[in-house]
Amino acid sequence: MKYRKNMEDRVDIWKEIFEKVRKTPFIDTHEHLSEESDRLSISPEKDSWISMMGPYFSDDLISAGLDEQGRAKLLDTELSLHERWAVVEPLWGAVRNTAYAKALEFSVKELYGIDEISFSTIDQIQEKYLEFRKEGFYKEAFSSRYAHIESCQVNSLDGAPFRESEQPELLMQDLSIVPMFAREEVVLGLSIEKFSEPANISVQSIDDWYKVIDWYFVQYGEKAVAVKSQNAYNRDLDYDPVAKESAAPLFLKRIKKEEMSEEEMKALENHLFGYTVGKATEYNLPVKLHTGYFAGFNGMPMARVARNPGDMSNLCMNFPNTRFVFMHMTYPYESELLALTKHHRGAVADMCWAWIIDPVAAQNFLKRYLVTAPLNKILTFGGDHSYVECTIGHAAIARRGIARALTELVQEEWFTLEEALAVVEPIMCGNAKEIFHID
Ligand SMILES: [Zn+2]
Repeated sequence: MKYRKNMEDRVDIWKEIFEKVRKTPFIDTHEHLSEESDRLSISPEKDSWISMMGPYFSDDLISAGLDEQGRAKLLDTELSLHERWAVVEPLWGAVRNTAYAKALEFSVKELYGIDEISFSTIDQIQEKYLEFRKEGFYKEAFSSRYAHIESCQVNSLDGAPFRESEQPELLMQDLSIVPMFAREEVVLGLSIEKFSEPANISVQSIDDWYKVIDWYFVQYGEKAVAVKSQNAYNRDLDYDPVAKESAAPLFLKRIKKEEMSEEEMKALENHLFGYTVGKATEYNLPVKLHTGYFAGFNGMPMARVARNPGDMSNLCMNFPNTRFVFMHMTYPYESELLALTKHHRGAVADMCWAWIIDPVAAQNFLKRYLVTAPLNKILTFGGDHSYVECTIGHAAIARRGIARALTELVQEEWFTLEEALAVVEPIMCGNAKEIFHID
């Protein structure tokens, strides 16, 4: 009888918490969404829902055994939907269990009312996909009917460091700082010449380069919601301080295209990173850093990822006035992130992307976070998607995880039900508003 009573209590707690989580909008702290008009410029004949399987999900397909030619076929928009699905079908059973796949199925369910992705539903999904994809569909996708997101923060991958959005209230933007400090081969074609062009500055010295960086902050510092670097894909986060006197001659070497050693390139990056982070701090912009797990396949240097937490704590100490938003829960080093966030004032934990990498770890992380570190430094959602439709499924998974974590905290008597309900607003949107200065 007692067991039964406990079960009933559990259901009641869950219901009440989930209802609150459902009604509360997210501030989504990380997306790669293109502009709606860019999405709509693709002709419907070439626009297939199966392209949504490209980012993330196809990484799992490769991990499960698909070869790269197979993946290229899946991504080939010249092929028919059926030809592309033929690549997925043999492995669907092997990858359908992952949250990458579940997020897609959640999206299809929430958006199109179709319960599963299978050969028997792919045509129907296509029909509904094209039906939904029309002017205003970003707003619709973010409405309380679907993802229930008040605004999101886009890290544009168009190439330009900042994108002027057509919907700036909905698609807030990060300013990418990678071209300001990173070596040329990682900055997506933004050489010193190209990057300084809009500022109309001819760069002959490190002082000129500072002026270029300053120009970007003058132009976009007010409009941007944060600055962002994903340079952890290219190197360690050990941006140790390097003085201007050492960096200036290295910069001259770089603009003269003289050969530079790895050590020299790293020292120059470290110095410019310091200058850039200083600027961001001056502009009151949080510094978002990719940490932890890598998107993609067959290429994650785990030893380097494992060094992230140590480097992150040095960053907090070397830049004591900067707010670092450590992204992706630093997965799989979320315990270290928890310790960092508890210890360093400047550290903020961002769970963007985490709910579809390892949803159980995400749920446990949130639960542990809420009884370990200050409430005002946790951000619980960022989709990290290029398709707005995918954000819907991801948000559905995140909402369930958040509600489960809070339900368990009540059952285990860490929180009363009232306390659990009271943290929903800050962790889903209130903290983001404060950290990113959103009215
Ligand atoms: Zn991302």
